[in-house]
Amino acid sequence: MAIGRMYIDGQWVESHTGKMREIINPFNQEVIATVTEGDEKDSKLAIQAARTAFDKGDWATTPASERGKIVQAIANLIRRDKEELAKLESLDTGKTIIESYADMDDIANVFQYFAGLADKNGGEVIQSPIPDSESRVVREPVGVCGQISPWNYPLLQASWKLAPALVAGNTLIAKPSEITPLTTIKVFELMEEAGVPKGVVNLVLGPGHTVGAELSNSLDVDLISFTGGIETGKKIMQAASSNVKKIALELGGKNPNIIFADADFDTAVDQALNAVFFHAGQVCSAGSRLLVEESIHDRFVDAVVKQAKKIKLGNGFDEDTQSGPLISAEHREKIEGYVEIAKQEGAKLVLGGKRPEAPELQDGFFYEPTIFTDCTSDMRIVQEEVFGPILTIEKFSTTEEVITKANDTIYGLAGAVWSKDIEKAEMVASRLRMGTVWINDFHPYFAQAPWGGFKQSGFGRELGHIGLEEYTEVKHIFRNK
Ligand code: NAD
Repeated sequence: MAIGRMYIDGQWVESHTGKMREIINPFNQEVIATVTEGDEKDSKLAIQAARTAFDKGDWATTPASERGKIVQAIANLIRRDKEELAKLESLDTGKTIIESYADMDDIANVFQYFAGLADKNGGEVIQSPIPDSESRVVREPVGVCGQISPWNYPLLQASWKLAPALVAGNTLIAKPSEITPLTTIKVFELMEEAGVPKGVVNLVLGPGHTVGAELSNSLDVDLISFTGGIETGKKIMQAASSNVKKIALELGGKNPNIIFADADFDTAVDQALNAVFFHAGQVCSAGSRLLVEESIHDRFVDAVVKQAKKIKLGNGFDEDTQSGPLISAEHREKIEGYVEIAKQEGAKLVLGGKRPEAPELQDGFFYEPTIFTDCTSDMRIVQEEVFGPILTIEKFSTTEEVITKANDTIYGLAGAVWSKDIEKAEMVASRLRMGTVWINDFHPYFAQAPWGGFKQSGFGRELGHIGLEEYTEVKHIFRNK
């Protein structure tokens, strides 16, 4: 790729700052691209473009079916360029190419799903109590949307915001993570090719505290949709109060994975590993807290440790690699800090707890799959989101106890229950204070089902019908005949 640029008012531009940022492959620290590095002034220009485009009203008044066609064209172009996009995502994040291909399929499906909803975003007629009157409820776009995304699923998280906002007739400014902007830049090229009109979609590049903060501070932005860490989410919520913006926050998680003694043992072991070590644990819904019923605890731990030892770390482009590196040196240091805290707190390290020694992994930000047993709810390693390949294991003996333990967290993003007793599993699912609960599975999500958190995992929902409604205002029109 040549220089990665911003896309403002239908033009590919470099920042007035003249600054450039090197984008690094976390597998070997090689520079894979150089992108322009903006600041508040660039965000202001992008906001102005989105504001003007929205206020002109052309996009909002384009027939919904036409907007749907354009969004479907984006889905088709993503499928056409899937290989290039997947390679770019793996280079930028270190994730395996198999994961990146799966992401690209999901992303195309997200655009397609929302394209299909475009002309079904209707209102309703109300039975007015006032004689000879008519009462209608209609859905209108919110306006100018700021969309801020994280680095772990760069394009996937961006797509959950882009597709519904466009379909509902909004204009937008997207801000990807400064460390993983490449696939988002590429999709802006595809949106241009698909015929999204000038000013409707804008892309800004640069740090969160300048480029991102301007989006949440601005009086000209009507809605902020943010996916990222809890502390950033709090700042955005405060800034968004400047003009009482609508907000959706998709924040972190510390997700319990509950294994009852009557679970299908082998599948639960396999999935417990996948739940936490997939993408090196850098997943908001990672099953980082494993809660195992006492009677099978020791056997389950042995099986999990035995299999975790076999996880192959390596270059995401190698076929046999199961897990790539962490995103950055700083992130690995943060994880190492948590491992030390866990040891001091009395958790028992039974696997990993260090960087791998293999010579071919020394240039990447690798960390071994790590497992702690003898964990208790009061430990920081059990309470705080580590966002790495670290699994904590706790024991439980009754159903009430495990429900209490599972809910004993400030987070409420996702959780899973494993049992052949479906009545019990359903009862537990109904008592978990989480936005998603999986029974006898872990991680499935799809465009049709809503995604979002309870408690401090945030509010608002992405995907599903409700993910489109987040990008609409509800208006009641009353007419006295
Ligand atoms: P982060 O909060 O550091 O950054 C996220 C984005 O916010 C980046 O684009 C960043 O530049 C921007 N940002 C930073 N400071 C800002 C500010 N003051 N104002 C506006 N924008 C600002 O998060 P991260 O490290 O990129 O991502 C990891 C976090 O994301 C984890 O906590 C993870 O759980 C969460 N996450 C949540 C979901 C979900 O669906 N709930 C999905 C993926 C990731």
